[in-house]
Amino acid sequence: MNVPVNSPFISVEAKRNVAEAMDTGWISSAGKFVEEFERDFASYLGMKHGITVSNGTAALHVALLAVDIGPDDEVIVPAFTMMSTILAVLYTGAKPVFVDCELETYNIDVKQIEAHITSRTKAILPVHIYGHACEMDEILALAKQHNLHVIEDAAEAHGGEYKGKKCGTMSELSCFSFYGNKIVTTGEGGMVLTNDDALAHRCRKLKDLYHSDAKRFIHEQVGYNYRLTNVQAAIGCGEIKHIEEYIAKKQWMADFYREHLSVIPGLRLPVTKSYVKNVYWMYGVLVDPDKFGMDKDTLRARLKERGVDTRDFFYSPNVQPVLLERFGKMGDFPNTDYIAANGLYLPSGLALTEEQARYVCEQVKQLAPAA
Ligand SMILES: *Cc1c(COP(=O)(O)O)cnc(C)c1O
Repeated sequence: MNVPVNSPFISVEAKRNVAEAMDTGWISSAGKFVEEFERDFASYLGMKHGITVSNGTAALHVALLAVDIGPDDEVIVPAFTMMSTILAVLYTGAKPVFVDCELETYNIDVKQIEAHITSRTKAILPVHIYGHACEMDEILALAKQHNLHVIEDAAEAHGGEYKGKKCGTMSELSCFSFYGNKIVTTGEGGMVLTNDDALAHRCRKLKDLYHSDAKRFIHEQVGYNYRLTNVQAAIGCGEIKHIEEYIAKKQWMADFYREHLSVIPGLRLPVTKSYVKNVYWMYGVLVDPDKFGMDKDTLRARLKERGVDTRDFFYSPNVQPVLLERFGKMGDFPNTDYIAANGLYLPSGLALTEEQARYVCEQVKQLAPAA
């Protein structure tokens, strides 16, 4: 059997919408699906404005620019995140300041944030890692106390919740990605969400060349072409209708893996806080090499031989040449180092079947030490 690490599920509605976009000739960024997708996704989250962009990285860039982050500023980011979060900060000329993650949920360790706040700090950019919400109460309290912007990177947490509030609704601006492996996909795509009219207006200008309001083709500032196409939005309009099913599927997957893998010594499964609705974007596990009898890399290779595709976790900023070149060593991140060294994620796609999930668990069990 062959189990891909991620295979998307594409709904009938998405396919039909794409055909309609093609048939009607609306294939660029003008067209009804762009507006419909912005409205549907924002209203799913209960947010006033959704501004589509070409991808999640662009969403982060636009959101940072919208609150005037630029050179001389510092932005607090988790050491454990996808590089996009960090690159978006670099695009603005600001300096990313890294805070280690906590071992339990892999999210930014809120206890360590305050020590990293300086007179230059302008924003905190928390990431809801692998679908588990960050400790937003603490983050928002710190931001208020120090007068900082908060921009949520909710790329991995569509529909996830923290104390009954959806990820991407708790800050001034939030960012989503609709890459092929995200819970709602448009192939490539992203969105910035906000309740603030002025910020929404600024995001719309930033993503579309910053045409002047008074006169098109007169440009007041540097804008970008970060537009989503109507064809991509057509996919999104079909997919958003299924978001609850998709989340249920992720939770079924997590329950299945937990039921079958929790007895294995040396394998640490994801932890979900009682007040969090975890949407398990990826099912990440930690391998303790002493107890499991082999390290993460060996386990990945052995699973690959048996047709099970897995992925590494993200790496520490301290091993990224692009960051080291500019900033040198960026601090000590022992938890990030530990999970990067020992973490892998199992096949977690929306198209994962029960037969495949069972096969994955059987292979892991066969490779595990006898209990
Ligand atoms: C996927 C992802 C992004 C970037 O999204 P793209 O659409 O691939 O640009 C940003 N942050 C996090 C945490 C992500 O997982």
